[in-house]
Formats: sequence, C-alpha cells, structure tokens
Amino acid sequence: MKSDKFEKVKNIPKRYSEELAELFSSKKRIAVIGHHNPDGDAVGGSLGLYIVFKNAGFDVSIIMPSELTEFLLWLPDSEDIVIYDKDKDKASQLLLKAEIIICVDFNEAERVGNAQEALKKSEAVKILIDHHPNPGTDTDYIFSFTEYSSASEIVYEFIELVDFKQYIDKDVASCIYTGIMTDTLNFSVNSSREETFKIVAELLSFGIKKDKIYDNVYNNFSVDRLKLIGYILYKKMKIIKGVDFSYMIITKEEMEEFNFIDGDHEGIVNMPLSVSDINASIIAIEKDDFIKVSLRSKKEIDVNSLSKRFFNGGGHKNAAGGKIYKKIEDTESYIIDSVKTFFKLQDD
Ligand code: 5GP
Ligand code: MN
Repeated sequence: MKSDKFEKVKNIPKRYSEELAELFSSKKRIAVIGHHNPDGDAVGGSLGLYIVFKNAGFDVSIIMPSELTEFLLWLPDSEDIVIYDKDKDKASQLLLKAEIIICVDFNEAERVGNAQEALKKSEAVKILIDHHPNPGTDTDYIFSFTEYSSASEIVYEFIELVDFKQYIDKDVASCIYTGIMTDTLNFSVNSSREETFKIVAELLSFGIKKDKIYDNVYNNFSVDRLKLIGYILYKKMKIIKGVDFSYMIITKEEMEEFNFIDGDHEGIVNMPLSVSDINASIIAIEKDDFIKVSLRSKKEIDVNSLSKRFFNGGGHKNAAGGKIYKKIEDTESYIIDSVKTFFKLQDD
C-alpha cells in the first residue's frame, strides 16, 4: 500500500475515511513527529494531533528531532514533546513501538535529522501530512497538498476525515491556528483560499484567543534581538544588483555580541522584501559545522529550486532553507556566484 495512496488531488479524498477509521479503531499506539528545527506549523500541527488523540484515549506520543524555539514554548502540552537530540533512546523507542506514525510538515525523511533511522526502521503504518512540493517520504498514506496554507490546515481536515472532530478543544484549536498563522506570516502569504478562512472561523468558535496567540509568537523577543535587527539591516544587508536579490551574512561573533538565541533570526529574512525592488532575500548564519541559510522570495522566483541546487536544502517556492558547507569568509562569494548562476540558468 506504499505511496500509491498519493494522487494529484486538491483535497483529502473522502473515500479514505472508512479505511482510516478502521486503522484507528484497530491500532492504538500513535507517534506524531515534525521536522528538525521545528517551526510553528510543525509544532502546532503535531501538537494539535497529539492532543486530539490524547483526548480520544489513545496511547500517543509527540517527538521533535530538535529543540523548540522560545516563542513556541507557550503552546499547550509542549512540555510533553520528546526531543530526539536530547533523549535519543526514548524518542527511538517511541517511534519503533508505535503502530501508527504521523509525519507533519516535511517532504523528505532527511528533514527529521538523526531520528531518520528509527523512523525508517519502524514498522508502524505511516501517514504524511504536508504541504511541500514533491513528497519523497516512504509513507503508506500521503496527504500532501501544496495549495494549502500549512500542514496544520491539512491536520484540521484530517481530524475531520477520521471522525475525531468531537475531540477538538480550545487547546487543539490554538495549536492548529498557530500553525496556520505562522506559515502564512499572519495571513500575508499562502492564504488566499476561501477554505483557509472557513477553517480559521471554525477554530475561533472553540474560543481561541487569536490576538494573544499573535502576541505570544511575534511580540516575544528581547531588546538584544531588536538591536541585532537594526545592526543587520544597517550594516550587513547587501544587494546583488541586476537580480534584485539581497543577502545578509551573520558571523558567530556577531551573534554572541547580541546574545543571539535560537529563533532570533526568525522573520529577519523577510524584512528586505518590504522594499519594492527587492524580490528575494537570503540570510546566512554561521553555525558550528556549516552555514545555515534561509531564503524568501516574491512572485515567481523559486527559492526552493535555488536551495536544492546550491544550498543543500529545499522548502517551498517562496520560502526555503538549506546549508552551505563552507568557511564563513567564503560564504559571500559563494552566495553571489550561486544566485547569479541560478538566474543565468533560468534565462537560458
Ligand atoms: P526556514 O528558512 O524557516 O528554516 O525554512 C523555510 C522553509 O524551508 C520551511 O518550509 C522548511 O521546512 C524548509 N527548509 C528549511 N531548511 C531546509 C532544509 O535543510 N532542507 C529542506 N528540504 N527544506 C528546508
Ligand atoms: Mn509548513
């Protein structure tokens, strides 16, 4: 029954409803897993599922390959998340013993980092819920729709499909809303489908505090981070003329100077796009073993392809990430050359 479940459809096919109902009535041990460096969508969508299955009396666990950023720690039940990098044995056991594994918000097994081996080894029935292009994971069911705002939005429909809607409560709704809100940058991108707002309206009916959720996620940073943003935009942002591409490279020393913590870079990569003439943006951040890059773009510029081709990564057309395995001093020329080559390739 492997990946033949994937069809090019725009919505979850209703006919899987009975098959999945049967699955969830016969198997009770569930593990939910999101991707490495989990974002609001991976954590929100996974927690939403976790709480629904917990409310329904399942033996359910939730695993993330690496730690959550500060601005997601307020999410209900986030303390139940087992972090693979911190608790490898426990996380592996949960994956290996699970009868059903639900994978949220990723399209390649590599995206779960070190948890990959246990995920692959597990004999559980695997279900993917995602919205990235070209799902490449080896799962039994693939619910992957690029038109959707977020994996969390698909999670909501999935819960409806398997007939567990009665187990949605305010906490579940808050988690799913957080996923939709963060992946759409508070409804500024990927959110033009009528259905997205119908789901949001339903989530509001559970009594979620929409403005508080915004506050928890976007107004939860330090003064140092604000100064770091000022410094980056003033001193570090550069523009590649001719292709309207901006880049920012941040060294480890600079991050230390501003007491940088994980998650602080979040959102900075989007800022250059507020300039009418800048159509794409990269931020490169020096880590111990590599340079982490985040890419964002407008309109038809496909940073997913750019990242796949030059930055060992991927993502969506207008939002992607990846890694550069070079020294920090060689990063600038590599980015400029990559971007120029990419645009030249596209012109040819
Ligand atoms: P971010 O820039 O926030 O890290 O990631 C933006 C988007 O790209 C997200 O959809 C994320 O899932 C994806 N992404 C980030 N890093 C990688 C990576 O190393 N590989 C792949 N395939 N996708 C990534
Ligand atoms: Mn997502």
